[in-house]
Amino acid sequence: MTVDPEAKESMYWIKNEEWYRVNRVKGGIELTDKAPERARKSFEMYQKRNGLVIQDAGEMTHAEKAALDAAALAFFKGEKTRVACPRCGNIITVHVAGNSYSVECETIGCIKETFRGI
Ligand SMILES: [Zn+2]
Repeated sequence: MTVDPEAKESMYWIKNEEWYRVNRVKGGIELTDKAPERARKSFEMYQKRNGLVIQDAGEMTHAEKAALDAAALAFFKGEKTRVACPRCGNIITVHVAGNSYSVECETIGCIKETFRGI
């Protein structure tokens, strides 16, 4: 797989957890005052490329939803299969918390789905 240099640079701001935070009120990511100039430029690129929208299940395409389902299924079957995000190419991971779990792309703000247990 080749890495698009612009795509790589557009994720620079994510390297340091002190540079960004999730704004749960507005439903998006924003940079903190600690983010350096390069991170700000990178974040602008990211916004242009991705539209910076936290997607919910309703806004995903069929292929994106299918990839999340495939990742969840592999996880619960104990398979080591790595499912790539159809939107950005990053890895989709499963997080379990109590009786609910979420399946999400490792790129913050990309596709994500949360499931609740009964
Ligand atoms: Zn993604």
